[in-house]
Amino acid sequence: MTSLFDSDSLPRSREGLEEGAVLLRGFATAEAPLLVEEVARIAQAAAFRHLVTPGGYTMSVAMTNCGRVGWVSDRTGYRYDPVDPGTGAPWPAMPKVFLDIAVQAAAEGGFASYDPDACLINRYVAGAKLSLHQDRDEKDAWAPIVSVSLGLPAVFLWGGKRRSDRVRRLRLESGDIAVWGGPARFIYHGVSMRLYCDSAIDRIVDGGGSQIDR
Ligand code: FE
Repeated sequence: MTSLFDSDSLPRSREGLEEGAVLLRGFATAEAPLLVEEVARIAQAAAFRHLVTPGGYTMSVAMTNCGRVGWVSDRTGYRYDPVDPGTGAPWPAMPKVFLDIAVQAAAEGGFASYDPDACLINRYVAGAKLSLHQDRDEKDAWAPIVSVSLGLPAVFLWGGKRRSDRVRRLRLESGDIAVWGGPARFIYHGVSMRLYCDSAIDRIVDGGGSQIDR
């Protein structure tokens, strides 16, 4: 029987997004179960939580971190913190498999000698969304962001250097890795789980002419 989510047969491929940015499809498919196990272990020590933005909005995405510092947000602003504000303890160490994959993916994207000190873990449920944003809180404005997708498919929103630039919608499968740095470091990006909602609503609309607000 073929699983709906069996992506083992998907070949690896490389899709250049622009200078300094690449989508490595299937790059971590084999390691995905191990990565998920490590995420669960990290979450036992540093639980997923819904952070509040400086503007007072509670994010729909649940977050935790591992590594020497972790990204946090509260009413005072965004920052990297060596301590988990939820526990007062340092964040869990970055698992070796995370480091290995990040270093390999960065090299594949043209960034040698990558030495990540932080790993933000975002957990999305259906309907959750991380709106278009730039990653601007890091000290190194050239080193790449390496983003690994695990679990359900999602939509990667890939824009430009201005918020108003055209946004591409790229389907992300478990095991896909996006790498962007250097000249692409401040590209606006985001994640949407609307993939499923859209197709479910399409079926409802097609089937019953329902008046759902899209
Ligand atoms: Fe980001």
